[in-house]
Amino acid sequence: MADRYANFANSGLGRTVVKRLGLPDPPRLRRHQAGDPPADGPVLVGAAPDGRLSEPIRKLLGDAGVQVAPSFTEGTRYAALIFDATGIADSSQLRALYDFFHPYARSLKVSGRVIVLGTQPSGLDAREATAQRSLEGLTRSIGKEFGRGVTSQLVYVAPGGEGGLESTLRFLLSGRSAYVSGQVIRIDSGSVDAPADWERPLDGKLALVTGAARGIGAAIARTLARDGAEVIALDVPAAGDALADVANSCQGRALQLDLTAGDAPARLAGYLAAGPHAGVDIVVHNAGITRDKTIARMSEDHWDSVIGVNLTAPSRVNDLLLERGLIPSGGRIIGVASIAGIAGNRGQTNYATSKAGVIGMVQSYAPLLADRGITINAVAPGFIETAMTAKMPVGLREAGRRLNSMSQGGLPIDVAETIAWFASPASAAITGNVVRVCGQSLLGA
Ligand code: NAD
Repeated sequence: MADRYANFANSGLGRTVVKRLGLPDPPRLRRHQAGDPPADGPVLVGAAPDGRLSEPIRKLLGDAGVQVAPSFTEGTRYAALIFDATGIADSSQLRALYDFFHPYARSLKVSGRVIVLGTQPSGLDAREATAQRSLEGLTRSIGKEFGRGVTSQLVYVAPGGEGGLESTLRFLLSGRSAYVSGQVIRIDSGSVDAPADWERPLDGKLALVTGAARGIGAAIARTLARDGAEVIALDVPAAGDALADVANSCQGRALQLDLTAGDAPARLAGYLAAGPHAGVDIVVHNAGITRDKTIARMSEDHWDSVIGVNLTAPSRVNDLLLERGLIPSGGRIIGVASIAGIAGNRGQTNYATSKAGVIGMVQSYAPLLADRGITINAVAPGFIETAMTAKMPVGLREAGRRLNSMSQGGLPIDVAETIAWFASPASAAITGNVVRVCGQSLLGA
């Protein structure tokens, strides 16, 4: 559904009116286009003394073709400010953040990027853990302050995790992360193989996308295909025509299946086992429904159907595919949660319960799957422009669009790009993460 306000605010007259009246000012976000360089211009890299990452990231960025500025030049517009805060072991050293961001805060381009690198506090001594935990307040506040489509993230990199950082830096610097801001991402230690071609990291992989006939699922199917994967697009038989269109548009296969049917996991497992891959590398549990009512007014059926599609079906499918060994080492399981599962939402007890459950699934399965070389992560979308949000009452819809740092809704492609980043072989060191794709929505922030 068209965001008429954003279109108006970006018109000649609209810009004047918006400025004069102090109205929300949704910028045009930079989104990835084929052939874009990894960063949209030069980047500035800073570090607190004794940081362990600034040298590896300078090298990594240089090798990736990103121009790392040797020093700050007045008047230059930078694509990103990257700060290695791993050397901060005491709160008195947090001053290094002010010293870096204060003078350079106004030097970022539209849709610029702020990335702070730190060490996950758990496992550190109390004093260092306190200082490292502080970083989150900085990055979240910058996301709210800088405006103009600038995003700001904190990336905790485990000692020995430098090798797993490249896919995340590439994702965060690019237009692929246009609607991801205020997030904390954790990268584990371990070696990771870089793909032969960063434009097609999923070459040779088979991906299953549920709920692929429209909306976010269709965007996921097309994005994974763009990145080289062969795609199985799954949806209910009633959506068969739209599903066939999506499958054709990405040279994939369509699979009609109602995931809530009792035999659905077994039929899916049989289908995958009989295919040329004898399994599936990437499973994206996107199918989801809403049936909104306050709990006092909600029918049993509304409760059961939402929990059934959004949570029980993905759990049953995971369990059977894993039990039958149909997800090989290097496999990826990716859930689609929601900010409603983090913040709760009036009229959505069923939906929020199911989506909080998706987060629980990611967190509880991640350590269990680590030995098998399989990662499990989830996205938690905020307000995304789809058929689901077009059905919302107008007041709620406008609130969803404006109450975030981007003053606009996200697009299905924004969720799909985040899923593609999780799916990449180069993201092998990322598991148990839930990343919101919500433009830093105020809900549950
Ligand atoms: P959508 O309604 O446009 O698409 C969902 C798809 O899932 C449909 O094609 C539907 O047929 C399919 N589906 C439903 N039940 C199924 C079943 N039993 N078996 C197989 N397929 C089934 O929704 P969307 O907006 O694209 O949302 C996709 C996902 O993103 C959902 O999990 C949703 O909860 C989540 N999400 C969306 C938003 C948003 O703003 N749109 C926000 C947060 C989370």
